[in-house]
Amino acid sequence: MLTDKFGRTVDYVRLSVTDRCDFRCVYCMSEKMTFLPRNEVLSLEELFLVAQAFTRLGVKKIRLTGGEPLVRRDVLSLVRNIGALPGLEELLITTNGSHLEQMADDLKAAGVTRINISLDSLKPDRFRQLTRTGDLDQVMKGIEKAVATGFRALRINSVILRGRNDDEITDLLDYAVSLGINIAYIEEMPLGEISDHDRQDTSVSNEDVRTIIEKSRELTPVVMKTAGPSRYYRLHGCDTKVGFISPVSHNFCESCNRVRVTVEGRLLLCLGNEHSVDLRSILREHPGDQALLMQTMEKAMDLKPERHYFYDKDAPQIVRFMNMTGG
Ligand code: SAM
Ligand code: SF4
Repeated sequence: MLTDKFGRTVDYVRLSVTDRCDFRCVYCMSEKMTFLPRNEVLSLEELFLVAQAFTRLGVKKIRLTGGEPLVRRDVLSLVRNIGALPGLEELLITTNGSHLEQMADDLKAAGVTRINISLDSLKPDRFRQLTRTGDLDQVMKGIEKAVATGFRALRINSVILRGRNDDEITDLLDYAVSLGINIAYIEEMPLGEISDHDRQDTSVSNEDVRTIIEKSRELTPVVMKTAGPSRYYRLHGCDTKVGFISPVSHNFCESCNRVRVTVEGRLLLCLGNEHSVDLRSILREHPGDQALLMQTMEKAMDLKPERHYFYDKDAPQIVRFMNMTGG
C-alpha cells in the first residue's frame, strides 16, 4: 500500500502517455509548442512497467492522459497490457475525442472502463478557436460512438472561460443530457505560460457556473467518497450527473488519493507543487529491477505535500504545461 506522511492512501495514478497532441487548446498550450525529444519520453514498455509496479503497490485505478493519449503510436497495445494487470479495478482515459470514432471499440475490448472527453463549445468556429486545430464534427462523432459502444459513466469535461464560452454552460449540459452522459465543469488552472489570454481575465469560478445552471435547473448534491477535487450533483429528472472540478477555489487536498507520472517518468506527488521523483533513471539505469522501482515509489510518498498553493502570492509559479503534467 502507498501511504503518505499525512495518512493518505494513494490508489489512483494518472499516467501521461505522450506530451504531443493534435489540438493546441488555448488554456493548455501555447501556439508554438516544443515537444520533448523522443528519447526523453518513456517508451511503451517503460510505461507498462510503471503501471505494473503501481498495481503491485495497491493502485486500483489508472487514468491514461497526456497530451492526447490516442495519438501515441501503438497506444492500444499499452492499453491492453495495462488492462490485463491483476488488481487494477478501473482503467480510464481522458481524450479530446478526435480519434474516438475509430478507436472506441478497440478501447473497450482492451479493458478501458470509463472515458472523459473534453468539449468546450458546440459552435464549430468557436471550437476551432479554442482548440486552434480541432474539428467539432469529428469530436461529436467520437462522443456519440463512445455512447453507442456502451461505456458506462461517460463524461464531458468543459473548461469554462469568461467571454469565450461562458454563454454555452447550459447548452453543453443539454448536450450531455441528450446523450444520457455526465458533464464536469473545470476551472482553468494556472499551469504553464500561455500566449492567448490572461488567466486573471478569463477565470470563472464553479460557484458562478452552478448559479447559472440553477437559474433554470434543479441540482441535488450527490455524496461521492473519492471525488477528489470534484463535487457532484444530480440533475433533476434525468440520470446526468453534473460535476464541478475546482482545484483552485476548493481545497480538496486532505482526501487526495492520487499521484501523476509525467511523460518523462517524473512521479509528481501533487498537481500544484513541484515535488517529484525521477522514475525514468531507475528504469534506464537499473533495467528489470522492479523491486527498486517499487521501493522508489514507496519512498516518494514521503514527499507528497500536504496541500497545493495555487495563487498564493509567495508560492513559485508552476511552469509545467498541463500536457506535460497529465491532466
Ligand atoms: N488531450 C486530452 C484532453 O484534452 O482531454 C487529455 C489531456 S488534457 C491536458 C486533460 C484535461 O485537462 C482536459 O479536460 C483539458 O480541458 C484540461 N486542461 C488542460 N489545461 C488546463 C488548464 N490550464 N486548466 C484546467 N484544465 C485544463
Ligand atoms: Fe491537447 Fe488536451 Fe491540451 Fe487540448 S487540453 S491541447 S486536447 S492535451
